[in-house]
Amino acid sequence: MRAWRGLLSILAISLSASPLHAQTRLNVVASFSILGDFVKNVGGDRVAVTTLVGPDGDVHVYTPTPADVRKIADAKLLVINGFGLEGWLPRLLQAAGNRASIVTVTSGITPLKAGSDADPHAWQSVTNTEKYVANIRDALISADPPDADFFRQNAQAYLTKLEALDGEVRQAVGRIPEGRRRVISTHDAFGYFAARYGIQFIAPVGVSTEAEPSARDIAKIIGQVKAEHIPAVFLERIGDPRLMQRISAETGARIGGTLYSDALTGEKGDAPTYIDMVRHNITTLTSALAN
Ligand code: ZN
Repeated sequence: MRAWRGLLSILAISLSASPLHAQTRLNVVASFSILGDFVKNVGGDRVAVTTLVGPDGDVHVYTPTPADVRKIADAKLLVINGFGLEGWLPRLLQAAGNRASIVTVTSGITPLKAGSDADPHAWQSVTNTEKYVANIRDALISADPPDADFFRQNAQAYLTKLEALDGEVRQAVGRIPEGRRRVISTHDAFGYFAARYGIQFIAPVGVSTEAEPSARDIAKIIGQVKAEHIPAVFLERIGDPRLMQRISAETGARIGGTLYSDALTGEKGDAPTYIDMVRHNITTLTSALAN
C-alpha cells in the first residue's frame, strides 16, 4: 500500500511537471521554406515545422512526393500562401486524405494583378509579411489554445523586427538615385517589393516560372534595357541564369548579383531566414545601383 502511494505521488509529480501540451509539439506543415521560417519564429519550440518545398526549391513547378503525403497526414495545421501559388496542392491534399486545418496567410491582403491572375509573391513587401505573421499567430492559437500567450509574445517580438526591416529597406532604396531604380530580374517575383519600395522590376518571365519567355519577349526586353539605359540585371536563385547572361551580354547592363525571390537557402547560404533574404536582396540591389 505504501509502495503504491509512493508510485502514485511520483506519477502525479511527473505529470504536473510536464503538462501534456508541452510534451507533444504541434505538427505544422508549411508549403514552402519562407512560410516555414515564419512558423518557426511564432511557434518556437511548441511546434514541429516541416516544409513541402524546401530551401532552394521552386514552389511554382513542384512535384509532390510520397513523403509529402505522410507529412500532410501527420499535420494538425497546414500553412499555405494562396493567390494561386501552390497549384499542385489540391491533388496532394486529396491523396493524403487531409484532415489538418488550413490557414491561407495572404488572407486580408489585396493581391496585385498579373494579367488576369493574382501575383502570389506578396511576401516581397515586408508590410504584407506582417499580415502573414498575424495570420499564422491566430492559426496557431486556434490549434493550440493553451500556448496562446507564448505565440502572442513570439509574434510580437518578430513583428517588431519586421517593422525595423521595412524601415531598413526604405532607407536603402532612398540611397539609390531615382533614375537608377530600374532593374531586370528573371521572373516577375518583385511586384509587391516594387509597389512598396519604388524600384521598378522588368522580367522576361511572368509571375510563374512555368512559362518560357518567347524570342519576342526577350527581344523586347533587350530593346528596353538599351533604350532606357537600365543599369543592371539580376539573377535569381531559382530559374535558368543563361537568359540573364545573354541579356547582359547583348545590352552591356552588368549582372548585379543574385536575388532570392521564392525560396530561402540552406543554413550555410546567403538567405537561411526571411530577414536574411530581404537584407541580402537590398544589399545586392544597392551595391549595384547606388553609384
Ligand atoms: Zn515566383
